Amino acid sequence: MPLSYDAIIIGSGSNGISAAIYLQQKGLKTAIFEQASTPGGSTRTQELTLPGFKHDVGSAILPMGFGSPFLRSLPLEKHGLEWIFPEIPYSHPFSDGTAYSCYTDIRKTAAQLGDDEASYLNLFEPLVKNWGKLENDLLGPLGIPEHPLDFIKFGMKALPSAKMLAKHYFKNEKSRIFFYGSAAHSTLPLDNMASASFGLVLSTMAHKYNWPFPKGGAQNFINSMLSYYKSIGGELYLNKNITHLEELPKSKTYLFDLTPKQLLKIKGTDFSDLYRKRMSSFEYGAGVFKIDWALDKPIPFTNEKCRKSGTVHIGFSEEEMENSEKVIHHKQMTDTPYVLVAQHSIFDTTRAPEGNHTAWAYCHVPNGSIADFSAIIEAQVERAAPGFKECILKKSTMNSVQLEAFNPNIIGGDINGGKQDITQLFTRPIAKLSPYATPDPRIYICSASTPPGGGVHGMCGFNAAKAVIKDHF
Ligand SMILES: Cc1cc2nc3c(=O)[nH]c(=O)nc-3n(C[C@H](O)[C@H](O)[C@H](O)COP(=O)(O)OP(=O)(O)OC[C@H]3O[C@@H](n4cnc5c(N)ncnc54)[C@H](O)[C@@H]3O)c2cc1C
Repeated sequence: MPLSYDAIIIGSGSNGISAAIYLQQKGLKTAIFEQASTPGGSTRTQELTLPGFKHDVGSAILPMGFGSPFLRSLPLEKHGLEWIFPEIPYSHPFSDGTAYSCYTDIRKTAAQLGDDEASYLNLFEPLVKNWGKLENDLLGPLGIPEHPLDFIKFGMKALPSAKMLAKHYFKNEKSRIFFYGSAAHSTLPLDNMASASFGLVLSTMAHKYNWPFPKGGAQNFINSMLSYYKSIGGELYLNKNITHLEELPKSKTYLFDLTPKQLLKIKGTDFSDLYRKRMSSFEYGAGVFKIDWALDKPIPFTNEKCRKSGTVHIGFSEEEMENSEKVIHHKQMTDTPYVLVAQHSIFDTTRAPEGNHTAWAYCHVPNGSIADFSAIIEAQVERAAPGFKECILKKSTMNSVQLEAFNPNIIGGDINGGKQDITQLFTRPIAKLSPYATPDPRIYICSASTPPGGGVHGMCGFNAAKAVIKDHF
């Protein structure tokens, strides 16, 4: 191991590796230090149930990884990455057996919505058309936008709550439920300001890019990033749990792919009391309860469109969904939570032995909950797919605390590196011109706790690395 570096990155999540790649591309000497024995953080694939069944422990569907301005500039396909595009990006089944699907074709999608067809087009067509202009402004820290007019127009739709936006645009409950399915990825109450923004961005990505995922598992995304990183001279050290800067070789800069709570525990940093105080008030969001199934057949959804979708959002009424996403913030659960299901093996035969299948799901739960929610998740899936439970060969579950044990960044089960409400969306971890920099000039944060927040897009790492270059090199 060399004695000194230009930049050391602590943590090999998608953001840590993105930061390392950008700095290495700029000719710097870099290395990544990771506490786990396998790289990838929340983007890892393991045989959690039975041999030959590959389950994504964390992230599973990577539209932002495919569409990310930084990641799509990398030659990842040359380093083993293969994308799988499901026939339908996502669907939402209703209690009468019908379903709405989000197709890449925006007109085909809108045509399902009856009276709400024109409103759907009115809401999404400008976003899909102008996404190329919007993405850089939305995927960085708050600043002067490159395209102010488009940014303001987006802000007017994105700042309200999902509930307010859905009520304004859609007359029919099914259309509102359909919108809630993607807005609820925010893990916020659906009447919280800016919860609409998640529905807008994620559905726009589905129309623009589909909701693809890496062949063989999300781990292959990380493996391709690392293969490229090493090919340009980067170094990765595993099983290195960093607790003190002294445990690392000398470096001009250190980029932490950690959340504020963890960074504050690292010894040897030189942070002001004020910075520590502000970072200590950073808020974490609700947790998740995760379940993976090995199945002897695909999930038998009643609706055919759901059987052809990579992702299925489950929530049978507006009230059920609003309630489920609200009560978790008051340490409660409903019996009918919003559930996200991903089914890779229908499109990717490498995920399970021949004839068998995998499925991945989670619901949002109170932060830190250790309760077992498998029965209510399975009951929700069964409502949309009678006979589902009989297909289960084996399951693996992880409550919030077990997820945090798997990856210390998943504080209390929060998969986004901190609450993503209006106060912490663009100004995370604290409101500051460069949220990536800290009062210790050597130290930067590059995790999902910085803008643009959770998801596998690498943009937090890329933005942090740009700040390092600007300040030091
Ligand atoms: C269950 C679940 C489902 C998800 N689903 C999706 C999805 O489908 N699509 C999507 O886009 N996103 C999804 N996400 C969110 C996405 O995975 C995260 O937002 C993203 O991985 C964050 O990347 P990161 O690099 O910021 O941090 P992480 O991936 O959390 O990586 C941080 C790394 O730092 C390491 N580390 C921590 N402390 C130390 C230390 N002291 N020393 C050394 N190393 C340390 C950790 O081991 C880890 O490897 C999901 C997450 C989870 C958990």
